[in-house]
Amino acid sequence: MNIHEYQAKEIFAKYGLPIPMGEVATTPDRAYSAARRIGGPVVVKAQVLVGGRGKAGGVKLAKTPEEAREKANAILGMTIKGITVKKVLVAPAVDIAREIYLGMVIDRAKKAVVMMASAAGGVDIEEVARETPEKIVRTTVDPTIGLRDYQARDVAYGLGLAGNQVKEFVQIAKGLYQAFMDNDASLAEVNPLVVAPDGKLLAIDAKMNLDDSGLFRHPGLDDLRDENEESADERDARAAGLNYIDLDGNIGCLVNGAGLAMATMDAVKLFGGEPANFLDIGGGARADKVATALRIILRDPSVKAVLVNIFGGITRVDEVARGVQIALEETGTKVPFVCRLVGTNEAEGRKMLAGANVAWAATLSEAAQLAARAVQTGRAEG
Ligand code: GDP
Ligand code: MN
Repeated sequence: MNIHEYQAKEIFAKYGLPIPMGEVATTPDRAYSAARRIGGPVVVKAQVLVGGRGKAGGVKLAKTPEEAREKANAILGMTIKGITVKKVLVAPAVDIAREIYLGMVIDRAKKAVVMMASAAGGVDIEEVARETPEKIVRTTVDPTIGLRDYQARDVAYGLGLAGNQVKEFVQIAKGLYQAFMDNDASLAEVNPLVVAPDGKLLAIDAKMNLDDSGLFRHPGLDDLRDENEESADERDARAAGLNYIDLDGNIGCLVNGAGLAMATMDAVKLFGGEPANFLDIGGGARADKVATALRIILRDPSVKAVLVNIFGGITRVDEVARGVQIALEETGTKVPFVCRLVGTNEAEGRKMLAGANVAWAATLSEAAQLAARAVQTGRAEG
């Protein structure tokens, strides 16, 4: 789950990061009164869950409250990468001498958090990594001892910071690391961390991604979700308790279990197909959940075949078959279906779909081949 800049700033501030705190406004008049309360020049910033707001014109400086109203008026309602701006953050403007990038990410190969920093701040880290990788400094954090002062100091020196800035940087880095760990984040980022003309460090942007699977451990965090910014598919999938991720291919996959879902995607690719999604219906899914999953899959116009791969243990094949039946009848889809349904109540499930227009496969590789072929021919044949 992605959260807004103003929400991430509230969290980071609790960890001692130096943040010029602002106010959220939903109308130009409210931006005006926020700017009055703040006093002095402000920055008006679109609150949308995408990066590059600055380049898109979603970040504007205003010297007076009147100007803040004008800028808010321009930003509210604008679309950035397809998302309409409904809120702005009005925050004290900062004079900038230097911009630094600082981020905590997970390195899956190392099974650890890696702190990344770059002297080329304000720019997307992906761009820095592509064009000037030598400007990125990294340090891997041992999860059993956490981020050590000397590691943060090393990175600070690598960024060319000196004197008191190094101390400030160490505090910021440790605070950001702790915020990351305490909230089960998958990303915590300050870009830019600025050096003000007086030499002080300030975090003027904040980004945080939270691990959905960790949310149950943090009851307050789920309230930060902005449903306006989710796609209808994401929202419906989450409401139904499905693990769904939209991908670029054309074979819709309905699978029980994350591991089997990954294996199914691999098999699809192995036989020349491209999965249109990752979808794990979980254990013990009933027919209505299966039908919802298929509705979401079939809404995607790029889906040219559906592969249902169920290994029924706790999940009952007859329930899945009934879900497939419901979805087929309800949508009247012409998209070919390939089913590999084995395990608990397999015979009942097969019987249920006996008259339906689906191809049957006995094994995963057979199913993947049939699905890849169905994309070519437009028909399900087994
Ligand atoms: P992003 O483009 O979505 O990452 O939004 P940011 O909050 O990072 O803002 C983009 C850029 O706007 C920053 O890199 C800064 O150069 C500039 N900016 C943001 N806030 C201020 C501010 O208070 N003062 C000044 N002078 N520039 C700012
Ligand atoms: Mn930024």
